[in-house]
Amino acid sequence: MTETSDGQSDRFTDPLVRLWRYADRILVRCPKCAGCASVLPEPTTTARPGPSNPHRRLSCLGCGHTAGWTAPRHDNYWIVPELNGPDDPYFGLPLWLRAECCGGNVLWAYNAEHLALLESYLAARLRERGAYRGSMSLVERLPAWLKSAKHRTEALRTIRRLRTTLPAD
Ligand SMILES: [Zn+2]
Repeated sequence: MTETSDGQSDRFTDPLVRLWRYADRILVRCPKCAGCASVLPEPTTTARPGPSNPHRRLSCLGCGHTAGWTAPRHDNYWIVPELNGPDDPYFGLPLWLRAECCGGNVLWAYNAEHLALLESYLAARLRERGAYRGSMSLVERLPAWLKSAKHRTEALRTIRRLRTTLPAD
């Protein structure tokens, strides 16, 4: 990998991750204290790991608020929500990492790792597709306004501002 003078990598290769990769730690705005809270898979012994886990727990270290979420059932299946933003897909709370950007659009990320992926994608001069062509990756699904070169500077500035709001952990 080569570095440009501003320290950003020239080249970004799509790691072909899907959004669910980041969905097991979602930072949201706490409904009680407006601080940063987390939505995690419920740590029960019966729960499955990963995106199909039908139980989620909201917890706020700032005020101690907690809440549980269980997916609705249909016959023998859990109905897990479609992952999206700029609200969390389980409790419907505003994501912590979200900001208006580039003329009324909303830039959002589930957590620090997700934000870092967006940053490295936007900062790169050269964007390469990953080798595997399966279902669309997170990067391929990014909205056109965010992929647009004319929005690059403002989007990067927004990402860096959002990063300063991340809680230390
Ligand atoms: Zn709170």
